Amino acid sequence: AGERKRKKRGLAKLTFEQIGGQESAKQELREALDFMVRQDEISKFGIRPIKGILLTGPPGTGKTLLAKAAAQYTNAVFVAASGSEFVEMYVGVGASRIRDLFKEARTRAAKENKENAVIFIDEIEVIGGKREGGQQREYDQTLNQLLTEMDGIYSSDTPRILLIAATNRKEMLDSALLRPGRFDRHIQVDLPDKKGRRHILELHAANKPLQEGVNLDKIAEESYGFSGAQLESVMNEAAIYAMRDEVDQITQGHLSMAIDKVLMGEKTDRQAAE
Ligand code: ATP
Repeated sequence: AGERKRKKRGLAKLTFEQIGGQESAKQELREALDFMVRQDEISKFGIRPIKGILLTGPPGTGKTLLAKAAAQYTNAVFVAASGSEFVEMYVGVGASRIRDLFKEARTRAAKENKENAVIFIDEIEVIGGKREGGQQREYDQTLNQLLTEMDGIYSSDTPRILLIAATNRKEMLDSALLRPGRFDRHIQVDLPDKKGRRHILELHAANKPLQEGVNLDKIAEESYGFSGAQLESVMNEAAIYAMRDEVDQITQGHLSMAIDKVLMGEKTDRQAAE
């Protein structure tokens, strides 16, 4: 898990072109970002700035990739955290981490001379879950701090801060987060359709030797219901099969086997969890 986190935070530049499928999510996100940087017009018309964008959808569909691409697109610094990092035994620690996150975004933008900063919070439901009536929770303060930080974002500030959060359980979020002026843009990031799956497979095949005539359309068809993360695994497993067979290229057979392997792997993981 640690390895995955490091990878996700990696500073590697990532553009929208490197994200497969997700055409409507990419389009909506780009529109929101184009709007966000038109600062002069926004203030001239007295329009409320976009502060937060919520990405909703199942795990492994590219939400983190979209947030990174958003930073690249707006030439912003990218600062990321996961909701679970803010859950602490001691009251106030989570809140001060939120403060630090915003501080880090501002400091880094100043240091790198950037006008924009994207703050990405994955698993937002962990800190932004519904507050049940009157029930004290140790991380209420964390959520309150996040709301305070959001209310303190002004479009005329430098850096301009854009908060992007991701969740696969939007229904769990506290309504305070969804109010206008907070996360008021919601973008759905669904499992890819066949065309999207094909695109994602192509992207992950780019650095791999595929045998001529391999039919990726067929693989896209066979991998119905797979997420982008699972498709990445399929390509990786197929390459491992090819290596094991001591051949130079990945064949159709390796890819089909890899699909089964990824499906099986998910099952064993689930059984282990039960
Ligand atoms: P989670 O909800 O589990 O955090 P996520 O939606 O943020 O998942 P990512 O972390 O963006 O998913 O994706 C994980 C990995 O899966 C990526 O690093 C990439 O290799 C692959 N992947 C996922 N979606 C896509 C996509 N649309 N195009 C290309 N690769 C993808």
